[in-house]
Amino acid sequence: MSSPIQYDFRSDTVTRPSPGMRDAMMSAPVGDDVFGDDPSVLALEGAVAKRLGKRAALFLPSGTQSNLAAVLSHCARGDEYVCGQEAHAYKYEAGGAAVLGSVQPQPLANDPDGSVPLALIEQAIKPDDPHFAITRMITVENTIGGKVLPCTYLSALAELSSRHGLALHLDGARLFNAAVATGVDAAMIAAPFDSVSVCLSKGLGAPVGSVLVGEEALIARARRWRKMLGGGMRQAGVVAAAGLYALENNVARLAVDHECAGVLASKLSDIEGLDVETPQTNMVFVTLSGARALALPAALAAAGVAVGGSDGGRRMRWVTHLDVDVAAVKYAADAARRFMNGETLRAA
Ligand SMILES: *Cc1c(COP(=O)(O)O)cnc(C)c1O
Repeated sequence: MSSPIQYDFRSDTVTRPSPGMRDAMMSAPVGDDVFGDDPSVLALEGAVAKRLGKRAALFLPSGTQSNLAAVLSHCARGDEYVCGQEAHAYKYEAGGAAVLGSVQPQPLANDPDGSVPLALIEQAIKPDDPHFAITRMITVENTIGGKVLPCTYLSALAELSSRHGLALHLDGARLFNAAVATGVDAAMIAAPFDSVSVCLSKGLGAPVGSVLVGEEALIARARRWRKMLGGGMRQAGVVAAAGLYALENNVARLAVDHECAGVLASKLSDIEGLDVETPQTNMVFVTLSGARALALPAALAAAGVAVGGSDGGRRMRWVTHLDVDVAAVKYAADAARRFMNGETLRAA
């Protein structure tokens, strides 16, 4: 039986707005963002555009809608975009680009480091021939599965896409994790891309929201798509203020989440039956072997520790964030060790 969740490692989306963030929401000046006059939304869009070195920005309710609006703004019916097989925008967004946009995805296998090999991309780009969809765009994700795409890869990707006249979109839901982990400015990472989507609702700790950035003309198209997709929000400043607060207060501290992930990984890696991947940012993946290890996620749940899983329960995903500190990490890792040593776990 599961106890109430005390330590929630399932995702960085579970973060609750902090008192400071709630104060900022409470006192946010608002207007009507569909009319374009909500001052808090305008402030957020301006701040994100500036921070990512782009000319314009659009606040949307979710990352899914932001990626979809980007695809629809770059591609027309009968076009295609090249992406990784593991890309969120392809795999975890209900096929929106195909369903709602008549845009065909061309997924390609990701390498273990998260990148999509440039040679594969090059081969997948279709010649101008009536048999084929029109290849219009390449999309990548950074971080992907908690991994940072190397800067050298991104510059080679930019060269490839411009050589073929393709648009380049970045699903940067966790772009700031990549920036903080590498010490490379987020605007530098964003520079080669025509559009970038960032999530405010993951490690940055806002309750909802994503921002899409790019050139003015592209963002104007995305604004129309957002309206069509039902993402035009009225006194959206209440939530935009949370995003602005997150941007000002919660970016540099992502380093703490990365440190916690490191501590967690090193503690878990001492336990037999657990094969732990060294984390680059705030995600720790663990492969479980043996019956006892396979029972670990349920045992942790009984001790109030929730973790994510995949691969039929053989793989655990632990995500660190604002609401799990190093004490929580130590408690959880200790609970895992005790269970693997034969103890029965109970709520703390
Ligand atoms: C969470 C996430 C999204 C989608 O964001 P939602 O706000 O949950 O729709 C897109 N891409 C990546 C990489 C994500 O992690």
